[in-house]
Amino acid sequence: MGKKLFVEEFQGLDFSMKYGVEKTLFCGQSDFQSVDIVETKTFGKMLLNDGLVMVTERDEFVYHDMIAHVPLFTHPCPRKVLIIGGGDGGTAREVLRHDVVEKCVMVEIDAMVVEASRTHLPSMSCSLDHPKLELRIEDGIKYVEETDEVFDVVLVDSTDPIGPAAPLFGSAFYQNVYRCLAETGIVVAQGESSHYEKKSQEKLLSIVSEIFPVRALYNYHNLTYPGGMWSFALASKGPHPLKDFDSSKVSASRLNFRYYNEAVHWGAFALPSFQKDLVGGYLSP
Ligand code: SAM
Repeated sequence: MGKKLFVEEFQGLDFSMKYGVEKTLFCGQSDFQSVDIVETKTFGKMLLNDGLVMVTERDEFVYHDMIAHVPLFTHPCPRKVLIIGGGDGGTAREVLRHDVVEKCVMVEIDAMVVEASRTHLPSMSCSLDHPKLELRIEDGIKYVEETDEVFDVVLVDSTDPIGPAAPLFGSAFYQNVYRCLAETGIVVAQGESSHYEKKSQEKLLSIVSEIFPVRALYNYHNLTYPGGMWSFALASKGPHPLKDFDSSKVSASRLNFRYYNEAVHWGAFALPSFQKDLVGGYLSP
């Protein structure tokens, strides 16, 4: 009998990715999505939501370093951080490595993702009981609409713009994010692919360009998102990710990263020409 295979199909694309599965560790259906955790030889354990790869043990450090450390080293003093989504815990783990962070609120809609990650992905979920973390199981859209809290950095660690995450790519959500950001606040959001998700990426940047004075796009390269090259959108009320980046803060922090470093911070904002043609008009100089 052949090996059990998991095929990841991408909405609107006529190719797929195929993974050999050693073992299925968790398989559930929540009110929001299907949640699976499988063990593979090449990528270790993988979390899938609605059949799409969210994180893998092998390359999660790329995504989590880049969503967290780029804005946290751009902001002059990121004391309060809000994470929307991020149920596996990897983003919270990286945020909480920064001593300057006094409080991190994480708003994840799906308790099943959190519980399955606590049980099967301890290397990512290891900081979910951190004393500085307030974990709330609720809709991030409603949270930013209703909260009176003010944050220095907001990280939108969401699934693709389908199902409960679709409004996280909308204008009303970003107007509320703007409202709950402090004067020097920064938001970074999972920004999709310039190769395969052009429309979603362009829409996201056009929305933030109407709300925030500073907008940028930066890239990272992982193993499991289609095409490998993927982006984060950064928008801010003031701090610029290059002009206001004091790279000496990175070495002064004495933190070690597997992907992020000072040169990667600078380089990630250097966009290839096709990407500039696509979204350059929405980015601030
Ligand atoms: N790194 C991943 C990626 O880019 O594919 C994202 C991983 S994380 C598991 C995404 C999380 O966003 C999921 O657990 C999902 O439940 C959560 N999410 C989706 N919509 C949400 C919403 N409206 N409010 C809060 N969390 C949400």
